[in-house]
Amino acid sequence: MKKLIFFDIDKTLIDENYNPDRGLVVVNRLKKMGFDVILNSSKTRKEQEYYREVFGLSTPFIVENGSGVYIPDGFFPGLTLPERGGYLFIQLGVPYEHIVENLREVEGKYGLKYYANSTLEEVKMYLGMDDFLARLAREREFSETIFEFRDSGFVEVLSSRGLTCQQGSRFISVLGKTDKGRGMERLVELYKKYYKVKTFAVGDGKNDFPMFDVADESFLIGERSHPRAKNIHDLMEILNYLE
Ligand code: MG
Repeated sequence: MKKLIFFDIDKTLIDENYNPDRGLVVVNRLKKMGFDVILNSSKTRKEQEYYREVFGLSTPFIVENGSGVYIPDGFFPGLTLPERGGYLFIQLGVPYEHIVENLREVEGKYGLKYYANSTLEEVKMYLGMDDFLARLAREREFSETIFEFRDSGFVEVLSSRGLTCQQGSRFISVLGKTDKGRGMERLVELYKKYYKVKTFAVGDGKNDFPMFDVADESFLIGERSHPRAKNIHDLMEILNYLE
């Protein structure tokens, strides 16, 4: 039996100051217990490559809220898929340029600020990130992030154009018709060709709910509630349930 645990990053594996120390303790413990630890975040490939180093991970990972699944070549023996960025790749979202084209048309009316119409300095201010992390966050492939808006009417307009808006820990993401649950399902399907699996999911935001819908066991950090997830107040608590 292969145990797969899917993690949100923001305010789950890293804290509000982007500190990964406590996440690292949990990840190391889970790895020793035989779990495959899998990142499933709104973050970009470049950001997740950074966090894969931080957490010492060589597993597949799911980017930009279920928009794409990156699989290191050779991870699944004999698997062939299209390549992107040096990985095997499954695309579930839509190209970034398509999203930005749509946002440009409505940004004035709804007072939208997002990566493509912000300077690096503005991005650093919105995110509270240093130069290095902000540059990685700007390398977007399949989703935009709304930092600021005057009127939430843009959500309906974008949805009439086939895009979806999802609330994360900090901001709203705009992307194609996918979510973290769909990305997770696609990766689990691949695992099931090779192993019997049991799946776990951990997150704090509304955009993590689709993972909780499909995982065998889920953990929700904080005060939100989901019918299939156990509420915990601190990431470390998952070890009480999993050890
Ligand atoms: Mg989060």
